[in-house]
Amino acid sequence: MSQKKFWKTIPLAQLNKEQWESLCDGCGKCCVLKLEDIDTGDVHYTDVGCKLLNCQTARCTKYAERKKYVPDCVILTPSNLGALNWMPESCAYKLVHESKELPLWHPLMTGDPKSTITAGQSVATRVIPENSIDENDLPDHIKKW
Ligand code: SF4
Ligand code: SF4
Repeated sequence: MSQKKFWKTIPLAQLNKEQWESLCDGCGKCCVLKLEDIDTGDVHYTDVGCKLLNCQTARCTKYAERKKYVPDCVILTPSNLGALNWMPESCAYKLVHESKELPLWHPLMTGDPKSTITAGQSVATRVIPENSIDENDLPDHIKKW
């Protein structure tokens, strides 16, 4: 496990692509539609998945070319993490950026790619597709993850 705890010894900006991608726990929380309160700036998550999200697995169906289909999809980088206040508290990138520990259920800690789901930390099977609701009904779908 020690070599595998690369995130504790290598700065985020120096991770290679494989290491960077493996930090993602696959929770899919960042891939649900969100509503921003225009008065407070608060961001509310919903139980509605982005149109590219596989609602059963919580994975993006066109990850490599996601920007082409969802131009406002935010691609995380070491330099934009600090500004992404809407990222979920459990997000591994956010945790490492804030020098916090990864949760024990993170796949990098368990060695099990499905441990995020097992721990109840994934949106998989708990979200509905974007095209299944009327946009005006989105406030009815606000959910705390
Ligand atoms: S919230 Fe973070 S850890 Fe979860 S899927 Fe999004 S980028 Fe990955
Ligand atoms: S395009 Fe893919 S990565 Fe981006 S929010 Fe949608 S499902 Fe998530």
